[in-house]
Amino acid sequence: MSLFRSASFRLTVFYVLIVMAISIGFSSVVYQLSKREISTCMSRPATFINQLPADNPIRSLTRDLERMRSEQLETSSGHLLSNLVYLNILILLLSSVGSYFFARWTLEPIEETLEAQSRFTADASHELKTPLTAMKSEIEVNLRDKKLTSSEARDLLKSNLEEIGKLEALSNALLDLARLERKTSESFQEISLPEVVTGAYEKVEKLALSKKISFENKFQQIKTLADKDSLQELFVILLDNAIKYSPKNSKIFITIQKELRHGEIIVKDQGQGISREDLPHIFDRFYRADSARSKDKTGSYGLGLAIAKNITELHGGTISVKSNVGKGSTFIVKLPLS
Ligand code: ADP
Repeated sequence: MSLFRSASFRLTVFYVLIVMAISIGFSSVVYQLSKREISTCMSRPATFINQLPADNPIRSLTRDLERMRSEQLETSSGHLLSNLVYLNILILLLSSVGSYFFARWTLEPIEETLEAQSRFTADASHELKTPLTAMKSEIEVNLRDKKLTSSEARDLLKSNLEEIGKLEALSNALLDLARLERKTSESFQEISLPEVVTGAYEKVEKLALSKKISFENKFQQIKTLADKDSLQELFVILLDNAIKYSPKNSKIFITIQKELRHGEIIVKDQGQGISREDLPHIFDRFYRADSARSKDKTGSYGLGLAIAKNITELHGGTISVKSNVGKGSTFIVKLPLS
């Protein structure tokens, strides 16, 4: 971004100016002090001779010594000055390079955040536009039809309602993301993990039953400090995905176990799995594997796992995935024990 290039340049100039102001200030102090010191040292022989009796023949050397002193002082000051100038040029070169890298290092994270934000806005706008365009063109076509029957009108309303459902799911997901960004650990309370996972299961039970998917649970009693609603949402996302991407009559295994320093929640399915190419991206916002995209399910925007990751990080935990195409996926959430 050119904005960041010019900001880097300005920051570099700013850093260089600070370094050079310090360096030049320091050099001029060194110059003045050294000059005074040289002058004092060189005036010592003349002072000594001046203290000799007036008839001492050496006193005639005073004038010569004085001339030599001022010549020597001029030469030494000149050397000192040119050395300090060289030193400052070297500092200018080194500080320019150093300042540029330092400015880039300072601005890079901000640039990355802004880039991610603008990518996010573009993706969100695109996702909002798709159902709106579909609704608009359907309504236009139907309005042009002078002989629109009531059953056709009902079909139109049904289809519009479907699109509105998609928009609602998207705006809810976007609100969730925004809400999570403002959440802090202040509202955390001690909660039981099996209780939260069971609560999440109840929310997806209907979908599981419709696909005749059964669950095998191994729960150890573990407590953690958490925002209960957010944590429940995290497991709803994982369970919902496990069901969505699993075939009928398959099994999902949920394990809650205590490790040395954390609690581990494992959700393992026997579904379609995630390809090697998709695996590194599935926690990115708006990322959907092609297989999921083509199905274009209601409320499937590739935001679920991004929200799940945000929730896990809010609780000081980690989320990871292992998957084998055609065999299934395993999501592992690690949360600190309370
Ligand atoms: P979506 O709303 O599309 O499910 P998610 O962020 O929850 O979005 O998931 C991102 C992508 O990761 C999905 O599109 C899907 O391709 C893949 N995915 C997530 N969970 C699973 C799973 N259990 N099995 C297979 N693929 C999955």
